[in-house]
Amino acid sequence: MPELPEVETLVRGLHLLLPGCRIERTRVIHEDVLRQPVRRFRNEVRHRTITAVERRAKNIVMPLDDGEAFLVVNLGMTGALFPQRFERSNGSAPGSLARRPTHPAVRFHLDGGRALVFHDVRRFGTVEVLSAEAWRVRDARLGPEPLSDEFGAADLHAGLVRSRSPVRNWLLDQRRIAGVGNIYASEACFRAGVHPERPADSVTPGEAAGMHRGLRDVLGAAIEHGGTTLQDYRNADGRPGLFGTLLQVYGREGEPCVSCGSPVERIVIANRSAFFCPECQPR
Ligand SMILES: [Zn+2]
Repeated sequence: MPELPEVETLVRGLHLLLPGCRIERTRVIHEDVLRQPVRRFRNEVRHRTITAVERRAKNIVMPLDDGEAFLVVNLGMTGALFPQRFERSNGSAPGSLARRPTHPAVRFHLDGGRALVFHDVRRFGTVEVLSAEAWRVRDARLGPEPLSDEFGAADLHAGLVRSRSPVRNWLLDQRRIAGVGNIYASEACFRAGVHPERPADSVTPGEAAGMHRGLRDVLGAAIEHGGTTLQDYRNADGRPGLFGTLLQVYGREGEPCVSCGSPVERIVIANRSAFFCPECQPR
């Protein structure tokens, strides 16, 4: 599933291409990805210009006509956005031009013969257009961005101590902190030496500082590496991310801990896997 670094990588790639593009018309192939009726969706994006490509939590947010409306895409499990028929300034075509989307769900026909395709194999992703006010309300419900300068270790600790949920679940709750998914929650707990099932309110200020640093380090490194390699994830160039080989606990059940050599364990919390080292992260 694409998480913050994968979405950020995609957003940075799309931001080089899409601003200034006008949506001429939209073809909805699978309307189950829309969060509103097809006709309304098509009318509200038609003839609007994409003025930026931004990220908020795991959402790709495209202000239309300088923020009169917002096109919001969530990639869900297997979603991707493919720009098509864009020329690079150096004349070479982005890699995704060579890839023909096999599961297009929504195709935006842009000016100049270009297109943007929302592709989704399993169709847990969503596409919607929101008014400026509706987007403001949605945005306000999301927690702070973990990479923002305003989000410090003390803020993380203050949030954690208000909850008795397992730390791993707290990190996944988008209302408490934005954009963190299963992979980076396991990695942040490992880097802080905190067992993923510990109650959030048991995390000490020192551990919260370690978790804050770990979260920013792992998210930052993942962005630098273009996002984690995931089955269906592709960045805007259509290339897989390179970060998969650098994860310290996620997906490494039974392999030696990079710190102490003990076998990494996997547990299931709230139906989702968490990976941890039983020595470095005691209960
Ligand atoms: Zn260990």
